[in-house]
Amino acid sequence: MPTVTPPPARLLLAVLLGCTAAQAFSLDAPEERIVRAVDARQAAALDLLAETINLESATENHAGVRRVGDVLARELMPLGFETRWVDVPAEVGRAGHLVAVRRGSRGKRLLLIGHLDTVLQGEPFRRDGNRIYGSGTEDMKGGNLVIVEALRALHASGALEDRQVTVVFTGDEEDPGAPHLLGRQALIEAGEASDVALGFEGGVPGVAVIGRRGIGTWRLEVTAQQAHSSGIFRENRGDGAIFEAVRILDRFRVELREPNLTFNPSVIVGGTDVTFDEAGHRGTAHGKTNVIPRDVRVMGDLRFLSGAQFEAACDKMTAIVAASLPVTSAAIRFQQEYPAMAPTDGNRAVLAVLDAVEAEELVHLARGRLALVNHQLRWSPERRRMRDMIAEGFVGTPRSARVELCLGSRAHLERRWSWWHDEARGGGVLGGCRFHHSRPAVRGERGNPRRARPRRPGAGPDGHAGDAGREASDAVRGQPGFRVRGHDDWYDGQERRGA
Ligand SMILES: [Zn+2]
Repeated sequence: MPTVTPPPARLLLAVLLGCTAAQAFSLDAPEERIVRAVDARQAAALDLLAETINLESATENHAGVRRVGDVLARELMPLGFETRWVDVPAEVGRAGHLVAVRRGSRGKRLLLIGHLDTVLQGEPFRRDGNRIYGSGTEDMKGGNLVIVEALRALHASGALEDRQVTVVFTGDEEDPGAPHLLGRQALIEAGEASDVALGFEGGVPGVAVIGRRGIGTWRLEVTAQQAHSSGIFRENRGDGAIFEAVRILDRFRVELREPNLTFNPSVIVGGTDVTFDEAGHRGTAHGKTNVIPRDVRVMGDLRFLSGAQFEAACDKMTAIVAASLPVTSAAIRFQQEYPAMAPTDGNRAVLAVLDAVEAEELVHLARGRLALVNHQLRWSPERRRMRDMIAEGFVGTPRSARVELCLGSRAHLERRWSWWHDEARGGGVLGGCRFHHSRPAVRGERGNPRRARPRRPGAGPDGHAGDAGREASDAVRGQPGFRVRGHDDWYDGQERRGA
């Protein structure tokens, strides 16, 4: 169901001023009206969700995709939206997109993005308690419903008056039609006419994706002089194409590595006679053991967080390729397949709002049980999984809590980075954002929210964890069998474990 959050600016201000989470969440009159409008729609919204789920709309089912679009257009028109179906050129071979615009001149111009198509189709709507099943429920007819119902509630409260809002429901998100620039033209135009864009894909509560790496491909061709192998490394024979390819790839491996950049040679063929089918990602090679090989082809990908990072990587790779071994030459070509979306301050601000919202929920859940919640650990995939398993009754009632403090900070460069800067372990771009803004809301602290928990004077190793553990123990005293163990990952810049 759609949830309504307080306006970002006010909530942020409340957090920055060190108000308790409860204070930050008192609603003003328009917000009360929004909440009432959402509550009043609960049953009708479920009916609408069922209607869209029961319309089969796999990407290749163009008529079905269009029918889902018609239903959403029907819902948006009474909210003051002009809606139109945008056909894509025949060569793209997809159903097209629904574009809805509400015109206005106040504030930021907003773009909301959903998609009409699903990967599978054929499973009808079914409700079991708080769970709903059916093709495309989570990806992403539920998200589409959030868009429509949020707009309906905002409309009912008068908050949409004179606001510019564009909604684009694409018809081929799961299997985009090519060429992408043609297939995505309507979305690109809507983006250019907007200040803020929010996608509603993937309904994981409390999670917002604020950055995404782009993808590129590269193709390397190495040529050398073919000759008898007994003459290799001589001035007029050179080093051969395979040694040159190995030199290039190993320098990539050693010299290119940096945060958020990955590159992977995926296929290589080399010898005296080579065929290579780029589109099919396959090739053949022949080379006798006594012949210096003259031809190598390599293909691979490149993932990057910004266009600048892509350009810089291309420049470095080109320079490495150009430094040829004797009597060899090589050329590399790049193609950007998918642009990067680097996190911006605006994106991080969205995350800070979500942080504060979830922090308040966690405080509520933890009341009477825990003294302190490091809610940032929720980003960790294994903790998310554990939470789901507890919620589903797989592991019974937890009787023991482990307290760990990990105080690595970008403010202290001498400290090594910890897991929350590590994408592979659940941190990375998402993990490092706005931690210090939300923690005071969790603790209900007053004072400077940027300041981490103050160290107790004279506290030794494990001081933080000891304090936290004591607070937690006090809170759970009297609950039989509940133990809390403390551990401090960091002390005076020395990492002793973890990370
Ligand atoms: Zn999707």
